Amino acid sequence: MRWTTEAATSRTPEPASGADAAEPSPASAPAEAAPGLFSLRGLLRSVRTPEFAGMTFHEVLAKSALNKVPPASSMPFRWTVNPYRGCSHACVYCFARSTHTYLDMDAGRDFDRQVVVKVNAAEVLAAELARPRWSREHVALGTNTDPYQRAEGHYRLMPGIITALAESGTPFSVLTKGTLLRRDLPLLAQAAEQVEVDLAMSIAVFDDKLQQAVEPGTPRTAARLATVRAAADLGFRVTVFLMPVMPKLTDSRAQLDEALRSIREAGAARVVYGALHLRPGAREWFLAWIDREHPELSSRYQRMYAGSSYASARYREWLDERMRPLLRKHGLSASADEDTPEARRFARLRAQREKTAAPGAPGAPGGRRGGYGRKIGAGEEAGGSAHGASGGGPGDTTGSALGRTSGSTPGLGGIPALEPLVPTLF
Ligand code: SF4
Repeated sequence: MRWTTEAATSRTPEPASGADAAEPSPASAPAEAAPGLFSLRGLLRSVRTPEFAGMTFHEVLAKSALNKVPPASSMPFRWTVNPYRGCSHACVYCFARSTHTYLDMDAGRDFDRQVVVKVNAAEVLAAELARPRWSREHVALGTNTDPYQRAEGHYRLMPGIITALAESGTPFSVLTKGTLLRRDLPLLAQAAEQVEVDLAMSIAVFDDKLQQAVEPGTPRTAARLATVRAAADLGFRVTVFLMPVMPKLTDSRAQLDEALRSIREAGAARVVYGALHLRPGAREWFLAWIDREHPELSSRYQRMYAGSSYASARYREWLDERMRPLLRKHGLSASADEDTPEARRFARLRAQREKTAAPGAPGAPGGRRGGYGRKIGAGEEAGGSAHGASGGGPGDTTGSALGRTSGSTPGLGGIPALEPLVPTLF
């Protein structure tokens, strides 16, 4: 498919550097000038097209596709791939918004409309995975921005990425809100014959009007549930990320009951849920939206998130209490969002300990993580977190709790001495 370009800029390719290729150059232009950008390293051209009204795609040549997660991150994986930066799904609450400010674009409209595309992501990734020192650790896709956002229909980066991962023997997970996932299900099923493949769909809102208001660029909930069904029918054990749960908007017993019923009916095997976080970037954008759309809730949200990006521990406990019987009722395995203040403290401690530990000692690098999540009860695990809420990936302590598993599960560790810092939710 060719772009019908109505406006485009181009320049001589200049390879980008670093894992996230599109770092701004020192001479980066102000956000208003973004459509004419010459500020992104590796920028090939910037494209607008009538098929995507209001959007600009900045095509870059990346030097690297594999991103290493910082050691102090609470996320349960070490490696990610993000072929896009910015996301046309435009979720008001999206935690990744602030990452656009590193590109000298804003965390609001620019995040939704100025999307950086690493057009060579698959080729670069294949080269990285072929290196002798690549350890074939789990790679998480969809933890920052959505790999199946609408532009993927044009760029088709994911088939090459999936193939590169499978052929290199690298297990991976995909988290998305995009129904375009369906296009690649046959390829993912093939990949699952070679490596462990975990699929997760993020579905936070089950009321159409609210869903279109808060996630205006996403496919409808019914279409996402149908995608879950299609994946389940192919044998995948699909996880649904029921998050963010938004206080007073999506957290009534009736709403959660209906959500879990729909998820179960769609054939999902497992749910990860968690309350809304509002980090800088998302916070301003979301609170402005609340002021506009739900002024009756403004002061409640202002109070709730006044001192922290996280919902209070009390609210999170209340949510657990509410979810527990509903999960039992619908027979769904469940995990809680792993991105909590407690988990972050734990991750920081772990990173400090790794820094000081001798190689090979407990807690030394290479010994801290072996997989996702922590099993906390029969069929229940503390898993990752949804992109759009906190940036994690699916959890699995059993090797078969998620996805369509053909290989063995990575070793699943944990740090017993620090484990009590991770909240036990069930
Ligand atoms: S939450 Fe996910 S789908 Fe929504 S805008 Fe952010 S990256 Fe895109």
